[in-house]
Amino acid sequence: MKIYEKLLLENKAWASEKVQDDPEYFLRLSKIQTPEFLWIGCSDSRVPANEITNTQPGEIFVHRNIANMVIHTDVNLLSVLEYAVAHLKVKHVIVCGHYGCGGVKAAMTNHDFKQVLNMWLRNIKDVYRLHRDELHQIDNEEARFDRLVELNVQEQVLHLAKTSIIQRAWKHDQRPHLHGWVYGLKDGLIKPVFEMSANTNIDSLYEYDDL
Ligand SMILES: [Zn+2]
Repeated sequence: MKIYEKLLLENKAWASEKVQDDPEYFLRLSKIQTPEFLWIGCSDSRVPANEITNTQPGEIFVHRNIANMVIHTDVNLLSVLEYAVAHLKVKHVIVCGHYGCGGVKAAMTNHDFKQVLNMWLRNIKDVYRLHRDELHQIDNEEARFDRLVELNVQEQVLHLAKTSIIQRAWKHDQRPHLHGWVYGLKDGLIKPVFEMSANTNIDSLYEYDDL
């Protein structure tokens, strides 16, 4: 059996198990999608949104990229955000990073990862530069790496709040609540590190007054 054929076989077993437990399961899910959460996580295979939160299909709308970045020129991310916030009307947006993130670690080096990855990682280097004073006070390299993971999540949440998508929903709907979380690969636990409730004041430079 080829390695990918195992996935298809497991899929069959999973689907029939679901139907055994609840004959209407897929019928119900196929009709409507009403998730309350948008998850922006890292592509890392060890941080699957549904498994680590023990949620089911239909509960979390998911976007993942390297190092869970919110980049304002990323049409993919912005489309997901717009759809989740304006159409699905999610109540919470979660940016979930993780300790031991390869993307964050790579950004801490001076290695040339070639153009496309360099371009992506540069956004994490910007986070490092913004918080250089705090990071340079941490002698232990592992601890500094952990802290950059947390600060990166915080900055990505702030990036969400800078979008007109979030500000419009805050103004007209008093949602969504923004959360910055960090998942621990070593213990499987999620640590909340930052949050912004609807209409939290942000730097006025980024505020739209005609939404
Ligand atoms: Zn990662």
